[in-house]
Amino acid sequence: MKIAVLPGDGIGPEIVAQAIKVLGALAKDGLKLEIEQAPVGGAAYDVAGDPLPAATLKLAREADAILFGAVGGWQYDQLPRAKRPEQAILGLRKELGLFANLRPAKVFPQLVEASSLRPEVVSGMDILILRELTGDIYFGQPRGMRKLENGEREGFDTMRYSESEIRRIAHAGFRAAMKRTKRLCSVDKCNVLETSQLWREVVTEVALEYAGVELSHMYVDNAAMQLLRDPKQFDVIVTGNMFGDILSDEASMLTGSIGMLPSASLDANNKGLYEPIHGSAPDIAGKDVANPLATILSAAMMLRYSFNQDQAANRIEAAVAKVLERGLRTADIHRPGAEKVGTVKMGDAVVAAL
Ligand code: NAD
Repeated sequence: MKIAVLPGDGIGPEIVAQAIKVLGALAKDGLKLEIEQAPVGGAAYDVAGDPLPAATLKLAREADAILFGAVGGWQYDQLPRAKRPEQAILGLRKELGLFANLRPAKVFPQLVEASSLRPEVVSGMDILILRELTGDIYFGQPRGMRKLENGEREGFDTMRYSESEIRRIAHAGFRAAMKRTKRLCSVDKCNVLETSQLWREVVTEVALEYAGVELSHMYVDNAAMQLLRDPKQFDVIVTGNMFGDILSDEASMLTGSIGMLPSASLDANNKGLYEPIHGSAPDIAGKDVANPLATILSAAMMLRYSFNQDQAANRIEAAVAKVLERGLRTADIHRPGAEKVGTVKMGDAVVAAL
């Protein structure tokens, strides 16, 4: 299992170091891992003048999976767009064909009070949102701004999905559902949009290949409402790029802590890039206060989705739960009465709990 590790900027190196420590502990127990690091984002711009240097891209291409920290920082904000750290993520997605974004939104019982919803509504919530990442209105052509005959300006974008694009994300959705409780909800807006009409037809066709999975359909406006009303009704949600962008942020916020949430972006062969959903948090970088659990849980997702090592993934997740159970908290999830620990101590505690 060859892993390219791209720590990036800000808190990236600190949190990734904790995930590597956890993987190292599993390696001692016999998991065969090969880890190689390369700079990405602002750190890569500093040494190579490019947020995604050819050598970093080559390493990412040759690896079986990529563990990514975060990129970005105020010192790079004035650079031309093509040189900004965030371009590295877009470049990796495009170059590696990472079209399926998996975002679990799980409420740990120990952190149920952190949610903005009442404990009984979110307690036990464990949702996986699959968002298509490379198509839809964000990439559809034509798009632009033009002047109308009456002199008024008009902006326009094109929502567009081909059958094959829908088919491959639908398969990813069904495969993910098979790994969980075998329930898949496809979200669209097929009462209004032609794109969604095709989406629903194709997803329904693909369902015939997954007899064990129960498929339901929901309009996106209702899904946004249901996520707040009764999030526990969902297991896996599959949806397009724009609807997924919005719903995955909504769902993740139900859990209450940005420092706890992992994500994966997969290609058609389950090769993936794994990263926490948060950014590089320059405000707390280098202070040993960042929460490393989202990154550690991203490593667990990597073992599950790219390497089919469900048992090792479960071990990491159980270790994280155990550490929370013991009352250890980084500053972002700290509550009176709990033991406040830094980034490194939290990583050490997960290793010990393994
Ligand atoms: P952010 O996610 O970095 O930070 C938002 C807030 O959450 C901050 O107060 C931060 O301290 C806190 N936070 C984030 N992660 C945390 C953690 N692990 N533990 C404790 N607290 C945590 O978002 P932002 O401030 O909007 O962006 C900062 C930089 O990150 C920008 O340059 C942005 O472009 C970049 N960014 C990168 C990614 C990525 O690499 N995938 C994603 C989002 C933003």
